[in-house]
Amino acid sequence: MIICGFEKFSMVDYDGKIACTVFTGGCNFRCPFCHNGSLVIGDVSSQEISLDEVFDYLNKRKGLVDAVCVTGGEATLQKGLDEFYAKVRDMGYATKLDTNGLRPDVLKDLLDKNLLDYVAMDIKNSKAKYALTTGVKNVDIDKINESVEMLKNSNVDYEFRTTLIKEFHTEQDMREIADWVSGAKRYFMQHYNDTEGCISHGFTEFSKAETEAFIPLFEGKVGMVGIRGYKN
Ligand code: SF4
Repeated sequence: MIICGFEKFSMVDYDGKIACTVFTGGCNFRCPFCHNGSLVIGDVSSQEISLDEVFDYLNKRKGLVDAVCVTGGEATLQKGLDEFYAKVRDMGYATKLDTNGLRPDVLKDLLDKNLLDYVAMDIKNSKAKYALTTGVKNVDIDKINESVEMLKNSNVDYEFRTTLIKEFHTEQDMREIADWVSGAKRYFMQHYNDTEGCISHGFTEFSKAETEAFIPLFEGKVGMVGIRGYKN
């Protein structure tokens, strides 16, 4: 497992829990708005953090931190992810996976082994605009859909989420996403921030009011719809 970053204390990565977050290196997408550009297109071998360092910290923080989140890059590309989660679970921590859903086989394995307490899966856009939004040609949308249906039909706690950008997301796209995630437990629309670490720059955010205007599209279709990342 290639770990390139370790945030030791986070109040925002796992709702309702104090978490630490492990950032893995490498991704099978190239979303131009990605704010972890160095993990996706950078030299990840030069950024590596040892597993021992992570486990040493977790050993010392038992009772003070509740959960461990694994994010990316794309965590499901990592060998040994199941062993990592199993060890974290044995230490008494709750576990969370952030994923883009392109590897349903890995997600299924983790769910079958009952290693996850929470999954947050990105819905990058409507199905037809996946290649445009993820920066790769020929996205296998059937695999994304397999992950969506797997989570909807699972017993795990989960959410779907989309980072909204005016250059990519139209009202029609949001309608199609609402139909796609219909029946899901939770769906969040997230604020886009153009930060130094982004792969590309200059995209346009939706205002909080513009994002809130999409909420009715999801009401009655998902158990809970919310927005994230906006300052009041
Ligand atoms: S936003 Fe997520 S899926 Fe897209 S390139 Fe970045 S890490 Fe990969």
